[in-house]
Amino acid sequence: MSGPDGSGAAGVLDLRGANQHCGRCGHDLGPAGAGWKKRTLMRERPMDGAGGAPYRSREHVLLRTFLCPGCGRQLAAETAIKGAPILDDRLHTGRAG
Ligand SMILES: [Zn+2]
Repeated sequence: MSGPDGSGAAGVLDLRGANQHCGRCGHDLGPAGAGWKKRTLMRERPMDGAGGAPYRSREHVLLRTFLCPGCGRQLAAETAIKGAPILDDRLHTGRAG
């Protein structure tokens, strides 16, 4: 897979101009430096057995996946206790502002 510049370095999230985008399809995920997970499709399921028999837990431990609305690529995953807020991951650009 190659990036928009043909470099072959497309990431999971790419910075283009002032916004971050899906590295596969280019779907706009909002301004750089802002929380981008709220612009994805989030799915939750109990962790119980999600990774096979060794990963047993109670129903309140969740696996959350964050999918690109444009192409369905999984952009991130996290574990959480049911009802906990999502982790506010941000793409830091090193730019001021
Ligand atoms: Zn995408």
